[in-house]
Formats: sequence, C-alpha cells, structure tokens
Amino acid sequence: MEYISTRGEMSKIKFKDTVFEGLAPDGGLILPEKIPQLSEREIEKLKKLNYQELALEIFKYYVSDIPENELIEIIQRAYANFRARDITPIIKIGDIYILELFHGPTWAFKDIALQFLGVLFEKLLLETGKKINILGATSGDTGSAAIYGVKGKKNIAIFILHPYKRVSQVQALMMTTVADPNVFNLAIKGTFDDCQAIVKTIFMDLNFKRKYNLTAINSINWARVMAQIVYYFWAYFRVTEIEKVEQVRIAVPTGNFGDIFAGYLAKRMLGDKRIEKLILATNENDILYRFVNYGDYSVTTVKPTISPSMDIQIASNFERYLYYFYNEDSNKVKEAMEKFVKEKALKFSEEEIKRVQEDFFSERVTEKETYKMIKDFYEKTGYILDPHTAVGVRAGFRFKENYPMICLATAHPAKFPDTVSKALGFEIDLPEEIEKFFSLPQRYEVLPADIEKVKEFINQKAIQ
Ligand SMILES: *Cc1c(COP(=O)(O)O)cnc(C)c1O
Repeated sequence: MEYISTRGEMSKIKFKDTVFEGLAPDGGLILPEKIPQLSEREIEKLKKLNYQELALEIFKYYVSDIPENELIEIIQRAYANFRARDITPIIKIGDIYILELFHGPTWAFKDIALQFLGVLFEKLLLETGKKINILGATSGDTGSAAIYGVKGKKNIAIFILHPYKRVSQVQALMMTTVADPNVFNLAIKGTFDDCQAIVKTIFMDLNFKRKYNLTAINSINWARVMAQIVYYFWAYFRVTEIEKVEQVRIAVPTGNFGDIFAGYLAKRMLGDKRIEKLILATNENDILYRFVNYGDYSVTTVKPTISPSMDIQIASNFERYLYYFYNEDSNKVKEAMEKFVKEKALKFSEEEIKRVQEDFFSERVTEKETYKMIKDFYEKTGYILDPHTAVGVRAGFRFKENYPMICLATAHPAKFPDTVSKALGFEIDLPEEIEKFFSLPQRYEVLPADIEKVKEFINQKAIQ
C-alpha cells in the first residue's frame, strides 16, 4: 500500500513515511491510495480473531513496509497496558450495545491510537537513530493520552502545554503525576488558546523546529486513524454474532471526525452495508450535524460544553471524507478547501446531502439533553455514561429503528466526575486506579504565556 495526499500534489509515500507527518506537503491530508475491499472469505476469517490478531490483519492491508513479526510485536506492546482482556469490550445494556473504548491508561478512547503510535515512534526512531521532541497543547484528553503513549520511550521527549488550573482535576493529575524523565508538563498562566498559539508559533520557527525535530501529535496522523479501524470490525463481529443479523448501526460521539472517519473506512472495507449507517453525534458545536442534515458546513465560534473533547470549530479530518465524497478528485477537494478558507463556509445541494446520508445520519445533543441522558440511562439500566458517550447514546436512540445499535463509549465517567455527579444527583465513586492519582506527587513547570520562556525551557530539556 502506498499513500497519497487528498490534494493530489504529493508523490506517493510508504506507511513509515506517514508516521511522523501531520499535513502532507501540499497542505492536504494523507490517505491510502485505495481502500481495501474485503472478500466474503476474508471477512469470515477475521471473525474468529482476538483483538490483537484482528489488528494485525487489518494493519497488514495498510502497512507493506514493516515485516509481520515486527508488526505483531508493536501491537502486543501497544495493548499490553489495557485493563480489559478484550481491549475494547462490548456489552449489551438495555437494548443497545456499548463499545467500551476507555480501558487504556488514561481512561479514554485516544489511548487506543496513541498507545500504538508511541510504540511505533520508538521503533522507527531506533531504526534510524533519530530523536524527536514532541510539542503539543491540550485542554485535556489528547495531552494525557500522548504522554502515556511515549512516557519512558527511547529517543523521545514530550512537552505538553496546558492552561494552568484550567483543566479538570483528574485530567491534570493524569498528566502531572507521570514521573518519567522524558515527560515535561508546562502549566501556562493563560487559556487553552494561549497554549495553542504558543505551540503554533514555535512550529513556525523552522530553524528551531529542525534543530529539535519538533513533532506534533495530532488527530490527522494517519497511523492514529488506522489504529481506530480495528474496533469497528471488532464490534461488528461481536454484535452480528449475538444478534444473528448482517447489519448494524454505530453511533460515534464526534469532534474532529477522526474516530468516525475510521468507522467510514471500516464501513467501506466491509462493503454491502454491513455497517448500515454511522450515526454522527455532536454536542452544541454542531458544524458536522449541520453538514449532514442541511449541507451547511460553516464555521461558528466554539462553545465550551460538558463534553469538552468534542468542542471544535472545524473538524480536522473532514477533508479526508471530502476526498471520497468527490469521488477521489483531488482538484475538487482543493477547490473546496480553498473556498472554505476564504469564505469560512461550504454549501452542499439537496442531492449531495442525500449522498452523504447514504453513510451518515446525524443528531445534535444539547447540554440539557446530555445531563438528562446520563440520568435516565442510569435509572433504567444502572450503567453510568460519561458526557461524551451520553451524546452518542442519545443520537443512537434517535436512529436505532430496527438495527442493533452500537454506541461508542469514548471516555470513562470517572474522568468527568463533576458533570456526571451533577447529572445523577449524587457523587459517583472513582475507581481505585483513578483515586490513586490523587496521592501521587505532581511534577510540572508553571510558565507565563510567553513564547520565549517556553522556547528557553525546551532549549534546556530537549533530547538531541
Ligand atoms: C477526542 C474525543 C472525542 C472525539 O473524537 P474525534 O476523533 O475528534 O471525533 C470524543 N470523545 C472523547 C472522550 C474524546 O476524547
């Protein structure tokens, strides 16, 4: 398999060349040159595999430059720290299925991709003798998952900026209690936007970037998307086996369109509408909901909500879907994205909306509805949803019809104890493993929102 850019102006590259990349050099996003179409026989074979074996078979379609035995080792190491034997267990609760994606070290679904990416980074760096310094800003989930992905790994240091005293306590603790010497938490006296602006500016200093091999960890990384395809297959196989049917629907709490795009690839790989529809669930940051229902992909301002990991203005992986929407015509993608940059909006016709709705239905869930969903679901089933998952479950019920509905649980409720307790009307218990974070020593550097101060810190601590 070789890789191309959505904008068509990058010569083809191999999987390994995608691993340290964000954007393609032409400004597009990296995609496999084709989506593998699985035969009936291949699908039958995949059904019988455990999670890691399934991951191997799926990755083999996309990775032709890492030998199988090495890929096996990477997968084994990536998922060795998960608390569930099945990695992503699926359970029936009431009349829906919950796919629990939160059994990794930071209790949210980003671990599934970032545990894999961390091992992959280390392996490729040891092959070449290169060293990298990862730099990122976080308001919560991504930063802690990235830190846990690379902590203790050779030839990597990581610098994560978070707004001082402005991330949830559990999320801050998950980052700042990591003791490995290659991890640096910078608590910036400012907002998340200040943190992001600092990181952006530092990346624009090309000399500095080159000197330290500065690397971003972002949701447009292809390897991250690829790792997420696996659990869609996994869930599809488990549920169709139990239900004795061929078709399911899958509801996905969506922000940057990374998770659900992996679902779209799984849907295409499986063919024949086995995944009959993907249900795209948004909170009040609803650009994707407006796209699917009204053909209106236009920017508004970000509204902070109780499902913060879905608070986005534009969806960074959306361009990947556009590439397929425009029948793999890079010129049309380029045109659309250039128009979007200028006008901050794209409009789609009735006919185009119909085409989108062959794959996606979408629902927008307000904060009020999210609180109510958490409470109602708990009272009916005894199962506690986190706010992101609740958005997905609410959308799932809306479009269940007669299909088995699989709802992706993207975070554990204990990551958002205040919101969940408020919804339920009582304090929820934290699992012992999360309770433990409160008694560990913290390590972080408080810095002003000053680019030069951050650079100075990196100068002192970077790995070279
Ligand atoms: C990141 C995240 C999401 C959104 O996933 P995207 O890939 O950005 O669409 C949903 N829920 C949780 C808990 C997350 O951390």
